[in-house]
Amino acid sequence: YSTAVALEEPIKPTVNVDHTKLFINGQFVDSASGKTFPTLDPRTGEVIAHIAEGDAEDINRAVAAARKAFDEGPWPRMTAYERSKILLRLADLIEKHNDQIAMLETWDTGKPYAQAAKIEVPMVVRLLRYYAGWADKIHGMTIPADGPYHVQTLHEPIGVAGQIIPWNFPLLIFSWKIGPALACGNTIVLKTAEQTPLSALYVANLLQEAGLPEGVLNIISGFGATAGASLCSHMDVDKLAFTGSTETGKTILELSAKSNLKPVTLELGGKSPFIVCEDADIDTAVEQAHLALFFNQGQCCCAGSRTYVHEKIYDEFLEKAKARSLKRVVGDPFKSGTEQGPQIDSKQFDKIMKYIRSGVDSGATLETGGEQFGKKGYYIKPTVFSNVKDDMLIAQDEIFGPVQSILKFKDLDEVVRRANSSRYGLAAGVFSQNIDTANTLARALRVGTVWINCFDRFDATIPFGGYKMSGQGREKGEYGLRNYLQVKAVVTPLKNP
Ligand code: ADP
Repeated sequence: YSTAVALEEPIKPTVNVDHTKLFINGQFVDSASGKTFPTLDPRTGEVIAHIAEGDAEDINRAVAAARKAFDEGPWPRMTAYERSKILLRLADLIEKHNDQIAMLETWDTGKPYAQAAKIEVPMVVRLLRYYAGWADKIHGMTIPADGPYHVQTLHEPIGVAGQIIPWNFPLLIFSWKIGPALACGNTIVLKTAEQTPLSALYVANLLQEAGLPEGVLNIISGFGATAGASLCSHMDVDKLAFTGSTETGKTILELSAKSNLKPVTLELGGKSPFIVCEDADIDTAVEQAHLALFFNQGQCCCAGSRTYVHEKIYDEFLEKAKARSLKRVVGDPFKSGTEQGPQIDSKQFDKIMKYIRSGVDSGATLETGGEQFGKKGYYIKPTVFSNVKDDMLIAQDEIFGPVQSILKFKDLDEVVRRANSSRYGLAAGVFSQNIDTANTLARALRVGTVWINCFDRFDATIPFGGYKMSGQGREKGEYGLRNYLQVKAVVTPLKNP
């Protein structure tokens, strides 16, 4: 691993934290209670800034603003072309502020700066432009019903959308949420994750310049059990979209059911199989399996966290996977060349270390890593387990950290059965040079995305979401629009058919 020297003296980011308040009705405001909470630097555990803490009363204020902007405001009524232009201007502004936003993102999350600046913020821009393009292409049908009737469907915005996002890709998932909702003409109250409020607040400051009317997008920082739960229970919220843990997803569905049955989109956890067949290009598969798991410190819902390798190539794959992990550059995420920064916080750090101990205790072989990196902050050495069995906790639970589990398989039927035996069904990787093998696996796997000879290819145009306990609904692409539209049937008798 890279030296721990950089960890002793964290690199100082050259960006100011200018926005710490709640963003309601086009204004930065204090929370009703006056309370704040600290957002921490995962490199050190030290405070970056104190952030206004939203609570039920602030959610009420934000929902009232979003309600008014929907019921009375220009947003759902303006031409779709106007909405499209505003989204395009927002994309331009984010692009212009790319580096400052990326710096805040790295500071708040601990992810490598190059990843934030060169991959994630540009993906946010791309996604907003993609959905800007949809705004004036959303339309219903005319339907040849029985009888002398003119039947049409209108595709209308649902109303006020409540959106709750996690800390692993704060601004990227923010864009997945707001892009389609705004393109369809909805208004929004969005709650960021308590660990990572900064990047969304920076963007809040760009909304007015982009021309977004006040009240259309309200951003609340705060905690799940207070602000988050109030948003989910609110009777004036018409729709919920959530990305986060499966456990919290269940709570959110319950809160909707107990209040007004608002429809819910959920993007939840995963335990994605990464299947390496005997005819795979081994070096590519090793590299992709490594990235599939370790990307973003292993904090990806779709992480390839069960690496199934055919027995004929298992030993070679394992040696190479281990060597690759030993070469992984861990260090200050602001340092160029860093591949892996710290985990998000002490809670996640402790949880990951507990899973590592459980792996050892249950008899898996710890090939490398398995301990903290450096002494400060929440860094963990890239960890590889071999001899992992399906019934071990590390092969069943979502670890959400830099822990690769390598399992052995003999034939395709067996690996399909084992891959599908998970309660999750978010994604899978399939590595084979044989198109028939790859297609057979792609069809048999019960998951929302199959990547063949690649992994983590995310794109604004490609739908993403889960089978089973990995979620409900799809985000991104044309499918992502469905979450934010009501379908109204309009039936008119025809006088002279
Ligand atoms: P984690 O445990 O990794 O923080 P969560 O799924 O709990 O993952 O968090 C994702 C998002 O859900 C965060 O914005 C968090 O504040 C929010 N959240 C957590 N609990 C609740 C809840 N009971 N109701 C609504 N939102 C919640």
